[in-house]
Amino acid sequence: AESPSTRDTAIFDLIRQEAERQRSGLELIASENFTSAAVREAQGSVLTNKYAEGYPGKRWYGGCEVVDQVEQLAIERVKELFGAAWANVQPHSGSSANLAVYNALIEPGDTVLGMDLSHGGHLTHGNPVNFSGLRYKIVGYQVNPETELIDMNVVRRLAHEHRPKMIIAGASAYSRTIDFAAFREIADEVGAILFADIAHIAGLIAAGEHPNALPHAHVVASTTHKTLRGPRGGIILSNDPELGARIDRAVFPGYQGGPLEHVIAAKAVAFGEALRPEFRDYARQVIRNAQALALAFQQRGYRVVSGGTDNHLLVLDLRAQGLNGTKATKRLDANHITISKSTLPYDTEKILHGGGIRLGTPALTTRGMTEEHMQVIAGLIDRALKGEDVKAEVHDFASRFPLP
Ligand code: PLP
Repeated sequence: AESPSTRDTAIFDLIRQEAERQRSGLELIASENFTSAAVREAQGSVLTNKYAEGYPGKRWYGGCEVVDQVEQLAIERVKELFGAAWANVQPHSGSSANLAVYNALIEPGDTVLGMDLSHGGHLTHGNPVNFSGLRYKIVGYQVNPETELIDMNVVRRLAHEHRPKMIIAGASAYSRTIDFAAFREIADEVGAILFADIAHIAGLIAAGEHPNALPHAHVVASTTHKTLRGPRGGIILSNDPELGARIDRAVFPGYQGGPLEHVIAAKAVAFGEALRPEFRDYARQVIRNAQALALAFQQRGYRVVSGGTDNHLLVLDLRAQGLNGTKATKRLDANHITISKSTLPYDTEKILHGGGIRLGTPALTTRGMTEEHMQVIAGLIDRALKGEDVKAEVHDFASRFPLP
């Protein structure tokens, strides 16, 4: 064991401070969650010491007999969770999972149709400074200006007009159900690959609380750390083993070296947790909480983008309050309420600030909060946005809910 004199107090003090920040504040970043102690134990284990380039049974290093079983378990569990015929659990993050999908399935210069970033799409769906925007010809679909929902007629028109090689269904800031079957129909009409990026909603899909992308999409990628409540990382799934083999090669040796077997072990633990019936109750409560939060803001005169939510997040338009995303984030941060700023569909604010904020309930729900608590939180956020100091109330309230 380490003696107190050799302990790296600089870092461990900071970790303690971060634990306290997480405990005493209210976490509403839609892409965050609180992992179980078991997930963190696996991730903090001796598996970090092991090199294992390759895949189970086909490694470039000796001594892989244990990590082979770890990785195989992760693969079997995630296949069961999403009903997949093939899975790769090695991507270090959601973005690197997406990179492997692009590299495996299309060529630089090919056209990709994805959700416009200011309407909810992710950086890797075509941001001009991201590999996706730099390497491919990106066409973005936008939501309907009245309903603020994805308009499948617009997706179809753009698909026929631009003939993309790949269509991406999935978003970072979209609060409504995504119709993967309708996307597949359009992909088939134009001979495109349908790629579902379920990073945000993976936990809801795993629990059966959002329609599964997999029977429809040729390939699915996700993070493991958002609603799925695992360690920070990525996964790729498919029902087509031939596509799977191409993606395996694109991950390793395509652009990764040694996989993070300690993270893969933690992913396996999280998949095991998500396979349990309690996880279904959790996912249901996440959605109920998001709906209760949306309603509580509407009752206080706020405009919720698209009028509500079907999933774990909502986007608030703060322009009528004379605020923007940057100002709101600052006011809430000062009160230890953590959120992320967001652009709005057809935003009139500068992109840098965004006209609103994105709020999510996965982390609060893990702490055991329910609809009645969303009322309290909406009240605290409303007052903080108006400039009131509610920090002490936030601390009192948050400390009633233990962290895993
Ligand atoms: N895809 C979507 C839809 C996301 O929201 C995110 C996370 O922000 C990612 C991919 C990328 O994940 P990561 O941050 O792990 O690279």
